[in-house]
Amino acid sequence: MYLKHLICLVSILFCIGSKLDAQNILVPNYLSFEPELNYSGTIPSPKQFLGYELGEAFTLYAHVVDYFEKIDELSDKIVVKNYGKTYEDRPLMYAIITSSANHQRLEEIRQNNLKLSDPLSTPLVEAQALMKNQPLVVSYSYNIHGNEASSTEAAMQVAYRLIAANDPATQKLLDDVVFVMYPCINPDGRDRYVAWYKSMQRMMPGKEPYDLDHHDPWPNGRTNHYWFDLNRDWVWGVHPESRGHTAVYQQWMPQLHTDYHEMGYNNNYFTVPGTTPRNFLLPDRYEPLADTIGRANANAFNRHQISYYTREDYDFYPSYGSSYPSVMARLGCWWSKAVYLEDELSKQTMARFLLCVSAFLTITSPRLLPYKKGQSAKPFFSNTPMMR
Ligand SMILES: [Zn+2]
Repeated sequence: MYLKHLICLVSILFCIGSKLDAQNILVPNYLSFEPELNYSGTIPSPKQFLGYELGEAFTLYAHVVDYFEKIDELSDKIVVKNYGKTYEDRPLMYAIITSSANHQRLEEIRQNNLKLSDPLSTPLVEAQALMKNQPLVVSYSYNIHGNEASSTEAAMQVAYRLIAANDPATQKLLDDVVFVMYPCINPDGRDRYVAWYKSMQRMMPGKEPYDLDHHDPWPNGRTNHYWFDLNRDWVWGVHPESRGHTAVYQQWMPQLHTDYHEMGYNNNYFTVPGTTPRNFLLPDRYEPLADTIGRANANAFNRHQISYYTREDYDFYPSYGSSYPSVMARLGCWWSKAVYLEDELSKQTMARFLLCVSAFLTITSPRLLPYKKGQSAKPFFSNTPMMR
């Protein structure tokens, strides 16, 4: 069941109005996929579609694709598109989720967002006019490291949560934001891991760090078919997975991108900003934006007495999923959560949830479009040295 808790954290990114309190966080079963919301009966939940509660088993990629295609068929709030194939012939797909009204003018929104991302060619007056009727664009990428497998499970719940919940807060969210979701950007690595895990699975998940089911053997699921770490390929685009999702990224240029990872069971939670020095290609506004999000996360962690750390780790190689958006003058973040061995650690799972919620609140409430005349994405290949 521990995986269920992992999934919830990433899944509930959107519940701005959630009533969290310290007492609830200590209850292991608190993360219950928000049953209090009124969900549309015509959209199947992941549990209804897959036949098991998320977290009870890992889902093979083909079934993830099936789920997204099914909800695409049933809802006018989601469109699922293809952006290529992996070396092992798995389809690469992304989903766009927003209100049906926004879907009616999706191309206009996309074009406007591109204009807002290029202040050198969009006059300030025009940009300000566009922003009056323009939703934010936020994107999420999941499971680039295939053996950090909980996030793709979460992606299904995130999609369901967004398109099936009928509460006013969710409706407003969909009016205000276009979500571009990449449910799994390393399907070959994921399936390598999931197939291995299923072959090792016992009645009860192992709780000891050295239990066999915590150690997928070489070549493990982290990498793609050619054992390449795709989280080093955002800039170079050597592999079809990277070329595909960065092409989509550039079609949208979202204001905020988050990339979902896991860390070891004995790590606590990391939040942006990372350590210094910074990559000199970053726009000036990276620092205050990352600081704003980091402080919001820290406040949430403090409020709920959850361990975390920030500013002590993680360099800024521009080909990471977290840093590529930032050097493009957007805001890239990566959220990393611990992997759980025991249900008792569910308290920590809240940290993941809080990270997401606080980041989302931070970015949406002041509508922090990183727009400033003369501060667009810099030409990326104009400077040979990438790092200081
Ligand atoms: Zn990772």
